[in-house]
Amino acid sequence: MNSPILNHGQIAQVSGLVAQYITAQRESFLPQCMALTQPERESMHGFFSPQLLDGVRVVVLRDQRVSNPTFYAMLGQMGLRNLPDFAEMAAITFSDVVVSHEPFTNRLLSHELVHVEQYRQLGIPRFAELYVRGFLSGGGYDGIPLEVNAYTLDARFERSPQQRFSVADDVSNWIRANRF
Ligand SMILES: [Zn+2]
Repeated sequence: MNSPILNHGQIAQVSGLVAQYITAQRESFLPQCMALTQPERESMHGFFSPQLLDGVRVVVLRDQRVSNPTFYAMLGQMGLRNLPDFAEMAAITFSDVVVSHEPFTNRLLSHELVHVEQYRQLGIPRFAELYVRGFLSGGGYDGIPLEVNAYTLDARFERSPQQRFSVADDVSNWIRANRF
C-alpha cells in the first residue's frame, strides 16, 4: 500500500489539478484526432451508444508519448508513490478523446470506450475526483474502481465479442451502487 491519508482539502486540490490536466490534454490532442473507422464502429456496435461511437475521437501517436502531469512533483512531495506513468500506458482517455501509443485492438479500444462512457455519465470533475479517491483507497492504479470496471468489461468483450451488452447500463449500475 502506498497511500498516505490526504485530507479533504488536499483531495479536492489534487482532483482539480487532474481535471485541468484532462481538459488540457483533450484540447491539445483533439486537432490530431479522427473519428472511428467503419470496422471499429461495427466491432463496438451494440456495446456503446451510437452517440458515443459518433462523438469519440481517437489518435494513435507516432514518435510521441503522453507526458505526465507537471504536478506529479508536488504529489511526490505529498508522499504519493507509484503514480501511473502515462508514457508507459497503452492508451489514455481524456473525456471523449482517446490517445493511444499503439495500434488499437478491439479489446484496447473497448477498454478506452468504457472510460468515455464513464466520463459521459460523470463529467470530467467527478471522474477526476473518483480517479484520485480510487487511487488512494485502492492502493494504486490497479485498485482504481474506474479501471476495475473498464478491465472487467474489456475482458467480457474479449471473451464474447458477439454477445452485445450495454456498457452504459453497466456504468450507471456502478454509479448507483457507489462502486466508483
Ligand atoms: Zn483504463
